[in-house]
Amino acid sequence: MAKKSPRKHSSHSVVLIPGDGIGPEVIGAAREVIDAAGVKIDWVPGAAGESALKPHGSLLPKETLDAIVKYKVALKGPCTTPIGGGHKSINVSLRQGLNLYAAVRPVRSIEGIKTRYDNVEMVIVRENTEGLYSGIEHEVVPGVVEALKIVTERACTRISEYAFEYARGHARKRVTVFHKANIMKMADGLFLKCARAVSQKYPDIAFNEMIIDNGCMQIIKDPSRFDVLLLDNLYGDIISDLCAGLVGGLGVVPGANIGEAGAVFESVHGSAPDIAGKGIANPLAAIMSGVMMLNFLGESEAAQRIKAAYNDVLASDNPKVRTKDLGGEGGTREFTRAVIKRVQKG
Ligand code: ATP
Repeated sequence: MAKKSPRKHSSHSVVLIPGDGIGPEVIGAAREVIDAAGVKIDWVPGAAGESALKPHGSLLPKETLDAIVKYKVALKGPCTTPIGGGHKSINVSLRQGLNLYAAVRPVRSIEGIKTRYDNVEMVIVRENTEGLYSGIEHEVVPGVVEALKIVTERACTRISEYAFEYARGHARKRVTVFHKANIMKMADGLFLKCARAVSQKYPDIAFNEMIIDNGCMQIIKDPSRFDVLLLDNLYGDIISDLCAGLVGGLGVVPGANIGEAGAVFESVHGSAPDIAGKGIANPLAAIMSGVMMLNFLGESEAAQRIKAAYNDVLASDNPKVRTKDLGGEGGTREFTRAVIKRVQKG
């Protein structure tokens, strides 16, 4: 493939969903950085979350879903699902509705972000469409509730294949599946059986399995042992936050939800209502999600330039351009401005 010359880009259409809480702040920052890198993007506004309820009468308006189906790529902020009122989680609806079956979350140590670990370099691959997130719960008799964990061979095989293909495509060496098949012999047993069967087709990628409680302990003891993690929906959710804690918190872990119909890029963190509107949210995870999106769009030169820019800003150890969650004194604006300055230097 011919190498792209820097700063000459074709135009893309991307659905931009600010979401709720800190969403508009961090997504606004990511958009500014991407625009500053010179990538030509036609941003198509999309509403979702609590902020969509009044104007559109829905937490996830059909227009937004249609736009993602049409343009195939979205950059999305976190959305709040009102508790009570019987609303289904917006994120779950979006992932299930568009069959965005693979959540991909790279977790890595970043120079300049001090934590107890300096050697984390793993990727979480989470099944996004079923398991305990199927939302099928009912009261059997008063005081007794059942929640169903739906596990299908098709989805387990598909996510396992995704994890191994990802490993192969990104020069990764090992896939580790976490499970609790010693207790959920049928449900987790099926997930494990599918992962084992798929692993046979990838002799070049090492495969191992761990009971999830032991896996958590092993991650905390030595995260460098792990490369690609293959997880069901609930385990993937929990392990994502656990792993975020290894590298500096939720402000630094990006993500992508990938399916056949398209891809939605979004940070692992939620809408963080405790800090919303204060100008102190860390936009790094949203910017990193934007970088994943640019790579997906084939804009690897701009992606690389943005990545080098935030790496530089963080490595410079200047507290004024570092957000509070990373021990700095700066806010969303200061960090974003520093990254843009560095991006424009090239
Ligand atoms: P959800 O259930 O929607 O995934 P959550 O319960 O995991 O959300 P978050 O909204 O992600 O919660 O917030 C968890 C904590 O992390 C909060 O204290 C929040 O302020 C902090 N946090 C999350 N994202 C950021 C960010 N980008 N910058 C700084 N702090 C953040």
